[in-house]
Amino acid sequence: MSPVRALPARGLSREEVLAALRTMKAQDAAWKQGRVFSLVYYAGDEVLDVLREAALLFFSENALNPLAFPSLRRMETEVVAMVAGLLGGDEDTVGTMTSGGTESILLAVKAARDWAREHRPTPGTPEILAPSTVHPAFDKAAHYFGLRLVRVPVGPDFRADVEAMRKAITSNTILLVGSAPSYPQGVMDPIPEMAALAQEHGLLFHVDACVGGLFLPFLRRLGYPVPDFDFRVPGVTSMSADLHKYGYAAKGASVVLYRNASLRKYQFFVSTDWSGGIYASPGIAGTRPAGPIAAAWAVMHFLGEEGYMRLTRQVMETVERLRQGIEAIPGLHILGEPVMSILAVGSSRYDIYEIADEMALRGWHLDRQQRPPSLHLTVTPAHAAVVEAFLEDLEVAVRQVARPDPGRWGRTLLVRTVAALLRRLPQGVTRRLIARASGLFQPGSGEGRDAPLYGLMGSLPRREDVREAVLALLDQIFRPPEE
Ligand SMILES: *Cc1c(COP(=O)(O)O)cnc(C)c1O
Repeated sequence: MSPVRALPARGLSREEVLAALRTMKAQDAAWKQGRVFSLVYYAGDEVLDVLREAALLFFSENALNPLAFPSLRRMETEVVAMVAGLLGGDEDTVGTMTSGGTESILLAVKAARDWAREHRPTPGTPEILAPSTVHPAFDKAAHYFGLRLVRVPVGPDFRADVEAMRKAITSNTILLVGSAPSYPQGVMDPIPEMAALAQEHGLLFHVDACVGGLFLPFLRRLGYPVPDFDFRVPGVTSMSADLHKYGYAAKGASVVLYRNASLRKYQFFVSTDWSGGIYASPGIAGTRPAGPIAAAWAVMHFLGEEGYMRLTRQVMETVERLRQGIEAIPGLHILGEPVMSILAVGSSRYDIYEIADEMALRGWHLDRQQRPPSLHLTVTPAHAAVVEAFLEDLEVAVRQVARPDPGRWGRTLLVRTVAALLRRLPQGVTRRLIARASGLFQPGSGEGRDAPLYGLMGSLPRREDVREAVLALLDQIFRPPEE
């Protein structure tokens, strides 16, 4: 199929259009077969059917104005109430649905900024104080809304260092953030201690439970030790919880919650003087798709507490088998003490990115993490059936990387040399060079060996160089692919 450059002059038949879509889809990552360890949360075909039917039923409605669609208003407020109930909310807890974790976080930060403008104006640029492991959505929020994100290094256990955070508070700090759990290593920040710190200083405190919000409550009910992390902890003022992760909802569904309406007020936007009328909107988007709202409402009713407990138990059984299998491979270890179903695999002996490449050659997609280098696994029900195959391949991959390989030494040497050279060249030159090189080094291209690229990116001292390289890559990605 050759790439399309312009609108076809005449429409194709329905069959032709759908056949083209299926052809394109065949190239995608095989998430149903458990080959991907992020991005898709698949709870089986029965759940998928419910999601599809519910979303199709509300395919054309628009949640921009819930007054025109009482069904949407009802579903959204009920979804928010169900999530608030799971996260220790009371009759004062309020929230809205959003398009995802990032929008939930953007809105919580925007609300904090506007609240602080009124209630505790800062002498300089307002600051968000967060552990270094916090999701980049907070970076994005700071970037979009003119705030400064101050990242405080985490402890050796990858959890927020409360004393270091205490020292980092300034008269510009408005918001503290903790994760329950963090995405990179899946560990819980010490939420109660952080909440107490926030209260001491009269700061707002957001708990990012994007990935844990629809998992930890059920995990606790199953009897696993889950530290306190939600509105039951005094001092927690807002939370984010994604329905399109362990809520198993359709994509485009998350919830942002506030302890009370006096804080949520700062999330909303109202324009009073437009010739098109008075315009009010709860979030970032104007027009809001109704499908994700209906699908979220549907899946929560379809599964119920019982269904979520069953899926949680199944995922944790898979996690246990994976943990044991990974730790039994000499040279590999799990980072920190993950509380739920997110694991980071590191190695003190081998280049973990080389292992990722070997796994990619065997059809397993693992995200490469840095500081320290590790591979990310978000475990879902789709992985129950592939644990043994995954562990077998992992063992082979490690053995492969353990073998002497002149090619690999060559690549490593090359990366070290390039990194050393780049350190000496003037900044402008290195940026242009890297921008060029990133075109050659596109992840997932070539012979499937990306370890040198990740090694190089991780080792470059000037992060601005990496940024430029990635910007160049984005520029390429958002152009039509070559034939
Ligand atoms: C996924 C995630 C987010 C961002 O959510 P999106 O839905 O990808 O926008 C934020 N924080 C944590 C901890 C996450 O896992």
